[in-house]
Amino acid sequence: MSELNDLYQEVILDHNKNPRNFREIEDATRYADGNNPLCGDALRVYVELEDDRVKDVAFKGSGCAISKASASMMTQVVKGKSKVEAEVLFDEFHKMVTGELDTEEDENSLGKLKIFAGVLEFPARVKCASLSWHTLHAALSGEEEVSTE
Ligand code: ZN
Repeated sequence: MSELNDLYQEVILDHNKNPRNFREIEDATRYADGNNPLCGDALRVYVELEDDRVKDVAFKGSGCAISKASASMMTQVVKGKSKVEAEVLFDEFHKMVTGELDTEEDENSLGKLKIFAGVLEFPARVKCASLSWHTLHAALSGEEEVSTE
């Protein structure tokens, strides 16, 4: 577990310092705003859909290292996926950080996102880690605002 923690720390720091896809998409098909008032994380997720596939996805906003790193990795993983595949990942990610899915025991397609299983040890951080996913889900569902409260 401490190895996972080291990896977790390293990845979070890297993505926080140098977030991927941290930009606006001017002709985004959809966007949604996500807020996590408990921590002060606020971000906007942009999605460009083409034939029900996520052609491009990006985010902007401010927040703690975990929320930013999670959003950064979310954009990397979801890009190129179909809407359905993205929704499956959202569901699996949500279940992982709330302890409903065991990444070792249960079949899943989380891949490198598994490092966020580490937030289970820090309940206050669960909403930080899942904010970008809730926001993506809202954007894909055609909602424009989401709050973790
Ligand atoms: Zn946060």
